[in-house]
Amino acid sequence: MLGRRQEIGSEMNQELEEIRPKSKARLMDLVQKAGVDVSDWANYKKGPKHAASNPKYCYEWSFVQPGKVVVLNLWFGVMQQEKFGITSSFNMRKLGDDCKRKSRKAMWTTRAYKMDEAIQEAAKNSLLIRVIVCDGSIRGLSDPDQKASSVRNRMLDPKPWSITKYDVQTGEYTLTRGGAIHSQYVDQFEDQIENAETPERVDRTGSVFKRDQKIRQLAMERANGLCEYCGKPGFKLADGRVFLETHHIIPLSAKGPDVIANVAALCPNHHREAHHGVNAEVIRGKLSAKKGVSIL
Ligand SMILES: [Zn+2]
Ligand SMILES: [Zn+2]
Repeated sequence: MLGRRQEIGSEMNQELEEIRPKSKARLMDLVQKAGVDVSDWANYKKGPKHAASNPKYCYEWSFVQPGKVVVLNLWFGVMQQEKFGITSSFNMRKLGDDCKRKSRKAMWTTRAYKMDEAIQEAAKNSLLIRVIVCDGSIRGLSDPDQKASSVRNRMLDPKPWSITKYDVQTGEYTLTRGGAIHSQYVDQFEDQIENAETPERVDRTGSVFKRDQKIRQLAMERANGLCEYCGKPGFKLADGRVFLETHHIIPLSAKGPDVIANVAALCPNHHREAHHGVNAEVIRGKLSAKKGVSIL
């Protein structure tokens, strides 16, 4: 992992360094700052003065304020600097299963499953994700029999994070710092994001066309999951999001503008047809009429 970070270069490591926690704030304070109601922490036999060390909460890995925010403790040491930003990938459900099988630490099983559920809830309801970055000694995550981890420093990342991948079947996830938009719709360029490439495409003449992610996203929101040519729904991915392809009615290569009126969300079939079909011109005409784009 270190090799990979060096490869990407020092400029990018700066973003990672920016969120390396330098001091140890109290977990309760950070959870509260992130927008979670912590009043029940004071509901503790040692009294409200010791609220912050209420064992019902202070060892938890995740916190949920229903309908609002999910707060996750993530290890700085396992964050990855990708070209497009910082990510953290793991599988809490699998950790829960492993702990359950191998270990007598029942609490780890509970906490791991709870964190998996929190991530699932955030994915389903597009909740805001706030991350408490933890630094210290991490116990081997694959070996639940090792001694417990200890947090040396922690801080609340001022930037929210988002779920860029969650596999409902397995529990595998990737969280990304900032940037990505929460959406129930996904298009063909999302793959490039997952493959750590910038959302650009090189055409046959070698020129690079940039596509604005926000424009594509807006077009997909407008399409509401339905192909804007045939009206049929796009297909569902394993994580529940709906797939459609975004298409420039007047191609970028023909100086078509990268604006929402020039972008249609199409089912994969009609996207291919719009490019290669004998009916390509007809499709372009119909889409243009719909979106008010004049053909150049
Ligand atoms: Zn269609
Ligand atoms: Zn296209």
